[in-house]
Amino acid sequence: MKLKIVQAGDPVLRQQSRALTKKEISSASIQYLIELMRNTMREAPGVGLAAPQIGQSLQLAVIEDRPEYIADHSTEELALYQRAIIPFHVIINPKLMVVGNSSAVFFEGCLSLAGFSALVKRSRRVAVEYLDEHAQRQGLQASGWFARILQHEIDHLQGCLYIDRMETRSFSSFDNMGRHWKDLPIENVRAALGLG
Ligand code: ZN
Repeated sequence: MKLKIVQAGDPVLRQQSRALTKKEISSASIQYLIELMRNTMREAPGVGLAAPQIGQSLQLAVIEDRPEYIADHSTEELALYQRAIIPFHVIINPKLMVVGNSSAVFFEGCLSLAGFSALVKRSRRVAVEYLDEHAQRQGLQASGWFARILQHEIDHLQGCLYIDRMETRSFSSFDNMGRHWKDLPIENVRAALGLG
């Protein structure tokens, strides 16, 4: 069973979501919700899904970058994106801190803006403190694509979408992004789009 993913324009995507208590995290209903979110993310398929995206205004997100997704990309692409396998993570009540001042600009998409993509600048390194699915306090440091996914999903929990942070002139249908921009160096994309 999977859940319906709400699309941009649904008010739930613009709400500050509420924290979960440890007791709630251990409850059968939240444990089942986590399982459904994992299934929904895998079926989409996507590398992250936040509770507001399935209509629940809760500070809960799931993240996973599976070996079969990674296999679709060349070694050069993976190095460029700093992308690697991410085991399944459940991120609850997160606090995100940017580490250092290095940033990266890449095309990014969202399951709640189906069919679209845009250039988004994100910090290369972040640290996140959160509770896991067992209500245990966890901390992690991430860089590259994992850091980008964390920033994207944690934004969702604050009612923020990537379109709030994107280079607006780069907004593109997914098909056109693949056709015209995907294989070009970012500097060339920026120049062609008049992004200086
Ligand atoms: Zn998203």
